[in-house]
Amino acid sequence: MTHENNKGKNMLYYNLTWDEIEEIDKAKTVLIQPIGAIEQHGLHLGLGQDSVCGYELCKLSSDAVVDTYVLPPVWWGSSTALKNFPGTISLKPSTLILMLKDIIKSLERYQWQKLVFFNTHGGNPGILNSAFREVKEEGSAMSFFNYFWIDDIADQVKEIIDADLWGHACEFETSLALQHFPDGVQLDKAQENPFKAELREAVSDWKSWNKNGNHGDPRKSTLEKGKLFTKLVVDNFSKYLQAVQQY
Ligand SMILES: [Zn+2]
Repeated sequence: MTHENNKGKNMLYYNLTWDEIEEIDKAKTVLIQPIGAIEQHGLHLGLGQDSVCGYELCKLSSDAVVDTYVLPPVWWGSSTALKNFPGTISLKPSTLILMLKDIIKSLERYQWQKLVFFNTHGGNPGILNSAFREVKEEGSAMSFFNYFWIDDIADQVKEIIDADLWGHACEFETSLALQHFPDGVQLDKAQENPFKAELREAVSDWKSWNKNGNHGDPRKSTLEKGKLFTKLVVDNFSKYLQAVQQY
């Protein structure tokens, strides 16, 4: 049996068998690699926010676009700036690059051609690009795409949120968590954090300037906003996946 063209079903890579992998048309099929972080998300959100929500959003997007498969998520990212908050598990950029290269090389062995990273953590994009550059230098023929989940929707998010600021463990992320990661939300512990833009080092220690570990005002988060944000992310990422298929 092949899962190809089976619209309406979550296309989870780990459900496939090796003969199904062999049969799939690699020229038109797109693999989605969710990548997030295990890092502090304020006093009100669990450490898994980026990875759990990212995986759920990838499944919904894959559900909307035929000939896509979602790989098991890369749970860990590079969270150097947050490591002084207890709980954060951060990979060094060099470690993450090695891990990503091994995943890519494994996929390339079976002739996959199009790989889209769906990334929910701001510390990862540059590292992903470095991994792509290294494998390209080593002769990879795969096409890589680096999708950061908020790039296409930032203006619309600003219109929906009630707080002036958003970013990390904020009204946006917390509203999404109410839908996709409810076990990780303790809204009664959420605090406002109106931070001022100021000169900071490229990799600053958040603990030195951010007491509770979040941005904006997560107390204003609601499930209704979470559903609006989900639709924005899924609609935009689905369009992106279709463009990659045509590429
Ligand atoms: Zn986050």
